[in-house]
Amino acid sequence: MTTGVVVGAGPNGLAAAIKLARHGVDVRVLEASDTIGGGARSSELTVPGVIHDHCSAFHPLGVGSPFWKELALHRYGLTWQWPEIDCAHPLDDGTAGLLYQSIEATAVGLGLDAGRWRGAVGDLAAEFDDLAQDLLRPVLNIPRHPIRLARFGPRAVLPATAMARWFRTEEARALFGGAAAHIYTRLDRPLTASLGLMILASGHRYGWPVAQGGSGAITQALAAALRAHGGRITTGVTVTRREDIPDADIVMLDLSPAGVLGIYGDVIPGRIKRSYRRYRQGSSAFKVDFAIEGDIPWTNPDCGRAGTVHLGGTFAEIADTERQRAQGTMVQRPFVLVGQQYVADPTRSASNVNPIWAYAHVPFGYTGDATDAVVNQIERFAPGFRDRITATVSTSTTELHDYNRNFVGGDIIGGANDRLQVIFRPRVAVDPYAIGVPGVYLCSQSAPPGAGVHGLCGYYAAQSALRWLRTRRAH
Ligand SMILES: Cc1cc2nc3c(=O)[nH]c(=O)nc-3n(C[C@H](O)[C@H](O)[C@H](O)COP(=O)(O)OP(=O)(O)OC[C@H]3O[C@@H](n4cnc5c(N)ncnc54)[C@H](O)[C@@H]3O)c2cc1C
Repeated sequence: MTTGVVVGAGPNGLAAAIKLARHGVDVRVLEASDTIGGGARSSELTVPGVIHDHCSAFHPLGVGSPFWKELALHRYGLTWQWPEIDCAHPLDDGTAGLLYQSIEATAVGLGLDAGRWRGAVGDLAAEFDDLAQDLLRPVLNIPRHPIRLARFGPRAVLPATAMARWFRTEEARALFGGAAAHIYTRLDRPLTASLGLMILASGHRYGWPVAQGGSGAITQALAAALRAHGGRITTGVTVTRREDIPDADIVMLDLSPAGVLGIYGDVIPGRIKRSYRRYRQGSSAFKVDFAIEGDIPWTNPDCGRAGTVHLGGTFAEIADTERQRAQGTMVQRPFVLVGQQYVADPTRSASNVNPIWAYAHVPFGYTGDATDAVVNQIERFAPGFRDRITATVSTSTTELHDYNRNFVGGDIIGGANDRLQVIFRPRVAVDPYAIGVPGVYLCSQSAPPGAGVHGLCGYYAAQSALRWLRTRRAH
């Protein structure tokens, strides 16, 4: 029987393992931590009975992931829950841009920009499934939907700053800007409109749901699917040398390129080794979890109905703070993402105490404490928030790295989304998953299609491995 070992039980490692197991490979997953899940884990971080997501929280790409739809993860215990409003972006004057799953409700809420919103994302939302088939996989492939791709192209290549000029109102510009800032780089660079447009389109197609009971439910469902196909998982095993990996026909690495170099550096061909060494990490996150009494007292009450709230003010302010951050400056008012998962999933709360998830974009490797900056940004749009806090747990960039060695320097997206790296990661190649060692593949978010809990990096990496296996057998 063909054997496979997967190093790392993150969403991509588990997805790769399931894909192999479904093709008859005897798979074993080795995970360094005592719990599986990587960037999709949850627990009581602050007070008993209150469930927090340690990392990922909202999953437009997860609910829409073609592989996970095929697996029917609900059969393994996963239930998605949707907030009434996917995302709110409040401004200092008390107004807010609101993203509903319904494109019509969103457009109408944006008043003067109703038509422009439909024009910017309406066709992308309608064609999202087809577009995703081409965009959520390696770029150097023959497109399956070239006309749709060609229609998206002129918008995708724009800097977000140029795309924002399409809108007339501050609310629409800010709503777009908050989504665009997920690309985690300065917004005046080519291609930075692309991710924002895609996650807005995916929001209109699928919403931005949370997993009932916490994001850990996603990886628990993946683990159950893997076991149902005969796969095994061992936790508490940190792979640091090749000798730690049992003999197998296929090895999948849910690791950073630096992690791959640490294990296979002496046998990887020179040109691939050089690409991995040149691979740039992105910016870092500073995470803060709160337990609060009641709800956040937002000035704009609609924000209280939203799962995600983006804080950073106008588009111009966000573009400016993201530029400074990318240049290494820790700004006073960073871009902050706030999660109110409990509005979609009340099982996360204990009586009137609710979990609040937040993180700030900070410069790569920032070693300071950004807790006050996060609290102040929330206070700016919700005066009185501070008084409702009953417990706070901050996770610095260094602690994020210690928690998961893939989050190098607190980089949560597995590598900078700047220059060509936004499309070609970890290197320019037809098969970006191959590390140049027969049978060994990179399957983490540092490979296409990049960050997010969707499992597609693992799925396509496993597909490459299976292709290699077929070729080997044919010879
Ligand atoms: C604060 C934060 C918020 C986020 N929010 C969202 C969100 O809302 N939505 C979303 O879609 N995504 C979000 N993400 C990103 C998401 O978590 C990642 O994109 C995703 O987890 C990547 O999956 P992966 O399988 O590639 O890697 P990981 O999830 O990093 O998993 C890698 C696994 O490999 C293990 N490992 C590493 N090295 C070794 C080794 N040497 N030996 C054995 N095991 C090893 C790790 O312990 C880990 O379990 C967020 C991340 C963070 C940190």
